[in-house]
Amino acid sequence: MDELGRLPSIGPKSAQRIAFHLLKVSKQDANRLAQAIIEVKERTVLCSVCFNIGVGQTCAICSDDRREGTIICVVEDPRDIIAVERTREFRGRYHVLGGALSPIEGVGPDQLRVRELLERLVPEGVVEVILCTNPNLEGEATAMYLARLLKPLGIHTTRIASGLPVGGDLEYADELTLGRALEGRREVDA
Ligand SMILES: [Zn+2]
Repeated sequence: MDELGRLPSIGPKSAQRIAFHLLKVSKQDANRLAQAIIEVKERTVLCSVCFNIGVGQTCAICSDDRREGTIICVVEDPRDIIAVERTREFRGRYHVLGGALSPIEGVGPDQLRVRELLERLVPEGVVEVILCTNPNLEGEATAMYLARLLKPLGIHTTRIASGLPVGGDLEYADELTLGRALEGRREVDA
């Protein structure tokens, strides 16, 4: 119960419920869960190109030749990739920043994978970068910061359209809304 209670959004009551559930399940089911936890820690690594979570040197998206290599969708977190993929509106590649600019929390450009993004532009022949950071204060500030870096380089720099709940988190947006926001993306004035 102590261990389960340390998981996100699991309060003491839920921890107790899960613990009692685990007592009841078959040994096989319990082992499968234990094995999955071990595997996620042993096998997964960050993709060396986009910093998505994967099992090899490059993630499934970066190693898929059918994806458009000249459009990069910039997100804060690997979870946002899952949200964008659910929309089925995007067939390019991604770049995971690893967070958003936040002076209060001491997160500056050096703490994010900004340099790694800039280094991808020329070798990959990138023509468009879609700024798909969260529609909150930090996400907007990050998008503006990146737009100011990218636009002078002649990169078509777009931001997902408004319509997403402001202050919200991309990963909780429903696929229809996020899909529309992607489709309606606009050039950023930086
Ligand atoms: Zn990747």
